[in-house]
Amino acid sequence: SAQGPANIGVVGLAVMGSNLARNLASREGNTVAVFNRSRSKTDELLEAHPEAEFVPAFTYEEFAASLQKPRTAIIMVKAGKPTDAVIDELMRVFEPGDIIIDGGNSLFTDTIRREKAVSEAGYNFVGMGVSGGEEGALNGPSLMPGGPDEAWVTLGPILKSIAAVAEGEPCVTHIGHDGAGHFVKMVHNGIEYADMQLIAEAYDLIRRGTGKTPAEIADIFAEWNTGELESYLIEITAEVLRQTDAATGKPLVDVIVDQAGAKGTGAWTVQTALDLGVPVSGIAEATFARSLSSHREQRDVAGGLPGPSPEDFTVTDADAFIEQVRLALYASKIVAYSQGFDEIRAGAAQYGWNIDLGAVSKIWRGGCIIRAQFLNRIAEAYDAEADLPVLLTAPYFVEALGRTQDAWREVVRISASAGIPAPAFSSSLAYYDGLRADRLPAALIQGQRDFFGAHTYKRIDKDGTFHTLWSGDR
Ligand code: NAP
Repeated sequence: SAQGPANIGVVGLAVMGSNLARNLASREGNTVAVFNRSRSKTDELLEAHPEAEFVPAFTYEEFAASLQKPRTAIIMVKAGKPTDAVIDELMRVFEPGDIIIDGGNSLFTDTIRREKAVSEAGYNFVGMGVSGGEEGALNGPSLMPGGPDEAWVTLGPILKSIAAVAEGEPCVTHIGHDGAGHFVKMVHNGIEYADMQLIAEAYDLIRRGTGKTPAEIADIFAEWNTGELESYLIEITAEVLRQTDAATGKPLVDVIVDQAGAKGTGAWTVQTALDLGVPVSGIAEATFARSLSSHREQRDVAGGLPGPSPEDFTVTDADAFIEQVRLALYASKIVAYSQGFDEIRAGAAQYGWNIDLGAVSKIWRGGCIIRAQFLNRIAEAYDAEADLPVLLTAPYFVEALGRTQDAWREVVRISASAGIPAPAFSSSLAYYDGLRADRLPAALIQGQRDFFGAHTYKRIDKDGTFHTLWSGDR
């Protein structure tokens, strides 16, 4: 078949695909073929961006003919069945050796399945996590490609040229084989949920405890953003809190319905963690907090339940309290990231991926939603010890957890006694205390299990498994 002028193509020209195509076209040496199922999106893109000099295609056959061999195409369509449909079409018009990349938010198990089917037919398949939303896609996303080493040779230079740059390094690395890239992207989103929930809890405690306005709290977040909490999420939190509603003149945050939406990647992270047996309690609490918020009908009937009224809560020393909340946020954030990296480690072990955790933390420093100063500390921790069993035991974090300890406990105590929900703060602390406990009540659970189900237990003083003939056992 014919050979066209484009060195890379994009299928799916909604917001993510068209921005990624423009990003590709803006880099020296790229000629970008574009295709969308319905013609209108292609026409609109061509009209709005003549400077990109796109090579348009209106059928899959034309798309294939517009690409140099081996053909390289990035799919940016709805995850799930649409992605399968596009892969089938590309396999119909492409040839063995061509590279098909899925840049959508696919579940990693789908990616493993697809790579198996696509590679058996002789094509290369790459599941790639893309983070940073529409702005990232246009100006530089954080990219998490999986797939075979062979595809990375061709793809690496192109992806490095469009990725965000953090401290001189492109925010892309070959994560590992088959589903590794989408797995890491999934955990990235889970960590994002936890980080956002922690920030929301910090805001709520400060507002209720000090009576400061959202605009005043925006200044506090802006100030925090100059220190160890410096991150995109803290930065945009200040902007959101500062926003006034044009229609009412009220702080916009007070006009927004307090029910959080979700597209499911947080739930995937938690479901996968449950399967792997990894306690990602911060991510789980953040995901559940969104579900709780959205159950308006339950909240309506529960509104009068007994307990302290958060309205009655005030702190005497506002500045001291704000600093305690900042420290509690930092400590809980360390726990959330430690849990997320724990899930990546466990996933890598389960699925046979060789994932460089330090490299993962580095590619999250730019382009993506959880970009933060803090990720440099994680990179340092894994540089010093690649097989670190628990991230929060790295020396830097031990120091941070030491100096944030008292404030963290105080904030959790205050939130409990004031009746202000702080699920991510408090569960992070419970996880931390569980992890460092000399002895856990799990011994009692083993006794209970042996009692009712003869599940047996191990002893601290002898090898082997034991069963007790309990007096109540029958
Ligand atoms: P989207 O709304 O998820 O998907 C719309 C695109 O999918 C359109 O181009 C649509 O084509 C195409 N499509 C749907 N069904 C199809 C089918 N059966 N065959 C062929 N094409 C089909 O678009 P998006 O928001 O740009 O996201 C694209 C992907 O990136 C998704 O997987 C998303 O999860 C992921 N992602 C999104 C973000 C974000 O911030 N939005 C961030 C990271 C990753 P038509 O025009 O013909 O309907």
